Amino acid sequence: MTGDDHPLLAGLSAEQREAVTTRASPLCLIAGAGSGKTRVLTRRIAWHADQGHIDPRRTLAVTFTRRAARELRSRLRQLGAAGAVKAGTFHSVALAQLRRHAADSDRRPPQILDNPAKLIAELHPSSDRRTRNDIIAEISWCRARLVTAGDYPAAAKAAGRRAPLGRYECFAGTFGDYQAAKRKRRVLDFDDVLARATEMMESLPQHAAAQRWLHRHLLVDEFQDINPLQFRLLKSWLGPDSTLLVVGDPDQAIYGWNGADPKLIDSVAEHFPGCAVMHMRTNFRSTPEVLTAAGRVLGRAPQPAVRPPGGDPTITVCDGAEEAEVLARLIRRRHRPGSRWRRQAVLARTNSQLEPLRQALLQRNIPVVTTGETGLLRRPEIAAVRESWTDNARLASCVADTRQWLQEASGDGGGASDDGHNAAFGIGNGPGSSGHTPATRADTPAARADVKAFIEAFLDFAEDHLSLDPDATAGAFLTSLRADDRALGRGDGVDLTTFHGAKGQEWPIVYLVGLEDGYVPIHHARTAEARAEERRLLHVAVTRAQQELHLLWCDQRHNGDKTFLKAPSPWVEAISEGFSGATGQADNVAAVGRAREMLRAKRDEQR
Ligand code: ATP
Ligand code: MG
Repeated sequence: MTGDDHPLLAGLSAEQREAVTTRASPLCLIAGAGSGKTRVLTRRIAWHADQGHIDPRRTLAVTFTRRAARELRSRLRQLGAAGAVKAGTFHSVALAQLRRHAADSDRRPPQILDNPAKLIAELHPSSDRRTRNDIIAEISWCRARLVTAGDYPAAAKAAGRRAPLGRYECFAGTFGDYQAAKRKRRVLDFDDVLARATEMMESLPQHAAAQRWLHRHLLVDEFQDINPLQFRLLKSWLGPDSTLLVVGDPDQAIYGWNGADPKLIDSVAEHFPGCAVMHMRTNFRSTPEVLTAAGRVLGRAPQPAVRPPGGDPTITVCDGAEEAEVLARLIRRRHRPGSRWRRQAVLARTNSQLEPLRQALLQRNIPVVTTGETGLLRRPEIAAVRESWTDNARLASCVADTRQWLQEASGDGGGASDDGHNAAFGIGNGPGSSGHTPATRADTPAARADVKAFIEAFLDFAEDHLSLDPDATAGAFLTSLRADDRALGRGDGVDLTTFHGAKGQEWPIVYLVGLEDGYVPIHHARTAEARAEERRLLHVAVTRAQQELHLLWCDQRHNGDKTFLKAPSPWVEAISEGFSGATGQADNVAAVGRAREMLRAKRDEQR
């Protein structure tokens, strides 16, 4: 079937259909939030596979987080195209490439540095934890931007960066020592994995040809967040027979602080000669009111909407001491019996803002799902699974055994009986004691469901790994997981995540909390460039809402017996100026105005 009534083309707008069916390559799709970029990317794979234009086994979709890769595979599965298609992060694909090369040439597989912070501590015994983390982050920025230790002082100055150790030269010395120490120990960190994979593509023609044969069709989602190191690797993967689709939105570029280069998406046609560029304007996700708010954050006209009008966003101001109570009340009021808590999400600028809210919601008996920021490897049930796997065992059989154990342990492979759970999650090894089955403990039905969900998330990641490296050992998978092991529990609960973690996702009801100056924009965003990125970040957060958007800020916060007066984010004021006035929230809008006035007066006084 090839016509317009083909099921794979159903539910697509004319411009989406064009982007799905065109055989143009390279192709760059630049389109706003919620316009269906990810939908086009997955449909394009399914469509061209169905039409026999591409071999799905030689197709690779690349994203930036493991969780996004998982989302792609799950969308592809719904389209009946997941089995053969590979989806992974730059890191996981590059690591699989290095391992394959090592296996083919009878060399030892790449050894990954266990703990970069420990190595920095050896080089700088007097440094505290924070400085060590800053050093690691700055090294990562250098690597992402292809900046060497020698180039650092000039590059850092030009980019307006603050060196973690004060003087640029001092940091450059540490960076150089860190690189040398890794070389001496013959270990790689995750940036080295990308760099080494690129070098091999550039210097080993046979290896490059094999790699290009394996991944002939490449697709990259969220391209606005690519950094120069990843970009070089991507370019090296392309051969004369390759096809390429990249999709992205420059208004959602939020990883510049991490080394991403948002200019790359704008200059894509220069880098890929003959690249066709397509645009899509309509937003399919959000109500016109949400899109008006999003437009006001960016100081732009809103995207056209197809959803019917909902209501204006709400703005709530409260004292920091009451924040959790106010939030819990809002959430509970919107929760209908029988509906899922997961329809609602709470987003904040930083993780540390979320932790007390998570605790407070749980205390008030509102279930929450563990966010994408929590590492799987730190969870006890995953530690139990890991202990039962030996490093050299075949990953495929470890996964099969553990899945079987999980199914038997939960009584039915789906909705688990309490007895089944008690038997298996409680004591000792699972049935068969094959050495691949873990012992773990969970006490309440909710906690047991949580344990199961995390083990399943872990096994899903293992299966993604196998799609890239079918012969992988358990050890190789665990190593690759260290680059990014954030997963989302599958149970029902209110989703709590950061603005960064919310990228690419959507919820019917979204609460943005802590919208105060100092958080939004974050206090350390001092340059115009950094503030512009903060603005785009809030725009990402706002555009996650499908139907309802609720903004919360606190006019005072407390730390011990100290009280701090707070002002709302300047962009909250911009959003509130767009309200129709008929929203019944005149008091809240007035509070925003008053607080901003006070702040302006205080600043004038200080001048
Ligand atoms: P983001 O920029 O946030 O990553 P996106 O451009 O990737 O967003 P999608 O996630 O693909 O957008 O789509 C946004 C939402 O709109 C999804 O729920 C998707 O199913 C829906 N959608 C996309 N296109 C259509 C369409 N033609 N008709 C109906 N719904 C659509
Ligand atoms: Mg998307």
